[in-house]
Amino acid sequence: MTADSDSEDFAPEPVTHENVMTVDDPAFEAGNVAIVTGAASGIGRATAVALAANGLTVLATDLDEAGLADAVDRADELDVDGAVETHEADLTVDDDIASIVDAAADHGDVKYVANIAGLQHIAPIEDFPVEKFDLMHRVMLRAPFVLAKHAMPHIRESGGEDDETAGTGAIGNMASIHGHTATEDKAAYISAKFGLRGLTQSIAAEGDGTLRAFSVSTGYVKTPLVTEQIPDTAAERGISEQAVVEDVMLGDAKVKEMMEPVEVANLFVLGFSKHGRHLDGGDLTWDGGHLFTY
Ligand code: NAD
Repeated sequence: MTADSDSEDFAPEPVTHENVMTVDDPAFEAGNVAIVTGAASGIGRATAVALAANGLTVLATDLDEAGLADAVDRADELDVDGAVETHEADLTVDDDIASIVDAAADHGDVKYVANIAGLQHIAPIEDFPVEKFDLMHRVMLRAPFVLAKHAMPHIRESGGEDDETAGTGAIGNMASIHGHTATEDKAAYISAKFGLRGLTQSIAAEGDGTLRAFSVSTGYVKTPLVTEQIPDTAAERGISEQAVVEDVMLGDAKVKEMMEPVEVANLFVLGFSKHGRHLDGGDLTWDGGHLFTY
């Protein structure tokens, strides 16, 4: 970053007691476990901390061990009611995915899964490496399917006889505006996110209304994935960093501000909570007007 860069303005807000949504929910207690993938960074890390702030035990998983430790540190700094437990795993490896659910079950009743891990690659279809397409689909579509396959029986069997929330739970999947509409050079990402919305609806179809599923679709969020591109794009186009955000990234949106990771995390809290009871197969489209206005 250059000395006169204004990228600091795009640094995400950490999760705090003031910006995190908390819900008084009978199932939000430390005996219940939420699995969060992609928990070492960005949206996944904020979601892990937010769910722990709601009293849940979180099984935070990622490839990146150091990033997972940061999630634990943030939860400790906030002195959360729940806990963040970590488990390093590669979502392209089926045994690793099974081990995530086993590790979660060691900490309590598995009730929630937040599929957040993801990656981007930008290239036109003619030049798009097939191996990269396969990797992105493995992480963002196949892994959520395999994770659901292992986690759904746990959710159905969760809770004891006198527990009003027995057998209930939810799977939340991080989609995108690019799970609704297409732009150039993102064929693997877009097709994975469209597929993830189909998987979400399939889980809802098999979940009997007690094991719910939902997706979350946002525009641009202040995560390293996005904010690190801003100075380069500004330099390439000869425009200010603010113009990159407002005109390039948010040109089609009405709300000209990127979302904070904690604002996305709050959508997972809402979707998992009792207030999300009728959210089943649907999508939380929090896109600042991008998709529905012009
Ligand atoms: P990020 O890069 O900050 O975090 C992604 C995490 O996924 C990383 O910690 C990475 O290690 C992990 N991951 C990647 N491959 C993995 C693998 N094989 N096994 C285990 N973990 C793996 O990104 P982010 O911006 O927080 O994005 C999180 C999710 O949100 C992604 O699915 C992304 O598509 C989606 N999303 C992001 C935005 C945005 O503007 N940032 C907008 C809409 C949707």
